Amino acid sequence: MSLNDFDLHVHSNVSDGSLSPAELVELAARRRITLLSITDHDTVAGVAEGIGKGAELGVEVITGLEISIDFGPGTFHLLGYGIDTADDALLEALEFVQRARRDRNRIMVEQLNGLGLDISLDEVKAVAGPDQTGRPHFARVLVKKGYAADTQGAFDKYLAKGKPGYVDKKRMTIGDAVRVIRGAGGVPVLAHPVQLKLKSSSEYEKFIGHLREVGVLGIEAASNIDNHYEDGFFRSLADRVGCFVTGGSDFHGEVKPEIELGGFDRMTREDLEPFLERIGLKES
Ligand code: AMP
Ligand code: ZN
Ligand code: FE
Ligand code: FE
Repeated sequence: MSLNDFDLHVHSNVSDGSLSPAELVELAARRRITLLSITDHDTVAGVAEGIGKGAELGVEVITGLEISIDFGPGTFHLLGYGIDTADDALLEALEFVQRARRDRNRIMVEQLNGLGLDISLDEVKAVAGPDQTGRPHFARVLVKKGYAADTQGAFDKYLAKGKPGYVDKKRMTIGDAVRVIRGAGGVPVLAHPVQLKLKSSSEYEKFIGHLREVGVLGIEAASNIDNHYEDGFFRSLADRVGCFVTGGSDFHGEVKPEIELGGFDRMTREDLEPFLERIGLKES
């Protein structure tokens, strides 16, 4: 793990991080990070504030977001960079996703009530504050009420996939997400590939090859979650399928205190050049 001078995967309290977009940029400036992207889950609502603060403090902030994709074995997240955050089709698609989240939350409250637990949507929303309301906030209410010892316990008992309180939510398909990001002038990048939880390197080879064919242009080959950048697996895979590589920490502030801003496998600006060219930050 290294502390890099850029970070292209960061969450603010507009989704599920603990710092505001402006506070993130202030922290970046203190850490001498000069290139940042705020990639909140399914929303671009924090981007403008980040860019404004970045202009003040000399941190280049590029537009970004992270979209959850409907997918089997593991978690499939798609990053989008360099998007026009006012694009109508993009905002419409994100509104669909946020509606799906609100519907899921309502059903989850009913389901937990059905299990005999006393919990209301207002209590969960109060815990969430300005954040997008999600399962971590459900967990905090369950802990507060003594239904679980801690957040992880609440997930293990009720909220994790397959547990009795879990309710799935509608997600975007990869085709829709790629269309929406590229339609808004952005570049789609596969986030933390290890979280796909595919079973073998040949499955990764096939799957990522397919992603390239449907229009994914980059792979977040350097991430806090794994060491596969330094050992070269995703980097050479990216080369083989014709994707550029990016890197980011998936920083969430106090929500995931083990992750540091800029903290991921060492990656140089040179490695990042094909990406920077693609989003117009560097002349080819
Ligand atoms: P949501 O988007 O509301 O479904 O919540 C997703 C968030 O819940 C993730 O970003 C994690 O922080 C947390 N989460 C999901 N699954 C688990 C799990 N099995 N154990 C602990 N936290 C989890
Ligand atoms: Zn998150
Ligand atoms: Fe993610
Ligand atoms: Fe993330």
